Amino acid sequence: MGSEPQTREAGVVIVGAGLAGLTAAQRLAESGISAVVLEARDRVGGRILNEDIGDGKVLEVGGQWIGPTQHRLARLAAEMGVQTYPTHAEGEQVIEFRERLIRFRGLIPRISAAVLADVAQAQARINRMARQVPLHAPWAAPKARKWDSLSFRTWIDRNVATAGGRTLIELAIEAVWAVEPEDVSLLHVLFYTHSAGRFEDLIGTAGGAQQDRFVGGSQLIALRLAERLGDRIVLDAPVRRIEHDGDGVVVWADGITVRGKRAIIALPPTLAGRIAYDPPLPGLRDQLTQRMAQGSVVKAMAIYDRPFWREDGLSGQATSDRGPVRVMFDNTPPDGTPGVLLGFLEGRFARELGALGAAERERRVVACFARVFGPRAATPERYVERVWADEEWTRGCYGCGMPTGGWTGFGPALRAPIGRLHWAGAETATVWSGYMDGAVQSGERAAGEVVAGGVG
Ligand SMILES: Cc1cc2nc3c(=O)[nH]c(=O)nc-3n(C[C@H](O)[C@H](O)[C@H](O)COP(=O)(O)OP(=O)(O)OC[C@H]3O[C@@H](n4cnc5c(N)ncnc54)[C@H](O)[C@@H]3O)c2cc1C
Repeated sequence: MGSEPQTREAGVVIVGAGLAGLTAAQRLAESGISAVVLEARDRVGGRILNEDIGDGKVLEVGGQWIGPTQHRLARLAAEMGVQTYPTHAEGEQVIEFRERLIRFRGLIPRISAAVLADVAQAQARINRMARQVPLHAPWAAPKARKWDSLSFRTWIDRNVATAGGRTLIELAIEAVWAVEPEDVSLLHVLFYTHSAGRFEDLIGTAGGAQQDRFVGGSQLIALRLAERLGDRIVLDAPVRRIEHDGDGVVVWADGITVRGKRAIIALPPTLAGRIAYDPPLPGLRDQLTQRMAQGSVVKAMAIYDRPFWREDGLSGQATSDRGPVRVMFDNTPPDGTPGVLLGFLEGRFARELGALGAAERERRVVACFARVFGPRAATPERYVERVWADEEWTRGCYGCGMPTGGWTGFGPALRAPIGRLHWAGAETATVWSGYMDGAVQSGERAAGEVVAGGVG
């Protein structure tokens, strides 16, 4: 026999206890507004998740890095007493390119000058175009219609002359968006680039989005926020239906119903579209959620007794045009043991290997590490992975992207409140959209809307 469903009342009902929902709840608490956070999973953090590897150490199987200009996340982490340390980057990087393993220092590998020049000019053009995309309204860019009518693949094919250059740009697209260039529009790539700063900021380690890590793992920020919020958070409560009218909202979750004056839905748009709304949402909003598809990522880590590649003068950072792991990092904990190699399967590689059994996927990932870092990488002590598309309450990562026609046709419905319903989540951010920093911005913005609108 199940227990009787609970009912509660609050000024605001928040759906989702990821960074966006938790930040919104914290900001509302500071403004003296009561909130209940309903979370589908049995934990907080959503797309950030620590995995315990013993000895008091953790690995992050979701979001992990923070970079310069991610000021909101930095401030929140400091507020929660979570410190950062630099991503290990000492030593030579490796690029596997056209069946050769090439070691290099700094930013530029020793590959064909024509390819490098091609990539540099493509990057410069992307940055130039990106600056023309307004962050609050990408659909209002002077060339929005034209840029939104092209897939990024079409743009690459027309603008990057060398085959090698096209491969490297494709690799960067997979690494940042976890999609193939045909999955997103040129306008989406430009918006996202501008929202981070420049293309280099997205792909860079030192000076870029992968610069630093959190001591104790990124989920610690969410866990500490949750501690402060206490019983405002209800776990194991997937929201199924939201009734809303001019007076307030009633949010129906498994085991609990909460009545409030407003709701903040802090979910990736795809999942927000799977909740039933009564009355139903306007067509434009629903069709937006039909278009914003999640990328495909498997985050995989092999654990060794020590980071042996450092002894070979390697940083552990690598890229491969062959895959299936296309981007690799040294993810060793701050004290230097155990040694951890991190690899991302993204886009088509995540889709292909995501459909395999776990043992075969591990075999192929580890074989790729061994090809790039040598035979010692073939025998990890342990392997850890997360297939994000299989996660019922995420359904892909790193976030949702826009296909051709998405921003110009449906973009205005992304953030606009509908009556007493407000939208948060990393995808709704204007700065560092899709990142933890963007999630924090979105939670603060949605809480601000609620404070301004009032809960009377
Ligand atoms: C593998 C991976 C690597 C990443 N790397 C980085 C990185 O290095 N740096 C970075 O900044 N970002 C990174 N990201 C992205 C970053 O993790 C996200 O942008 C951010 O955590 C999103 O927070 P959010 O609160 O917007 O959404 P989420 O974290 O998705 O939170 C939504 C919450 O809602 C819950 N939920 C879903 N449906 C319902 C429902 N119906 N009812 C109730 N609850 C529901 C979910 O369980 C979840 O807890 C990465 C993500 C992944 C997966």
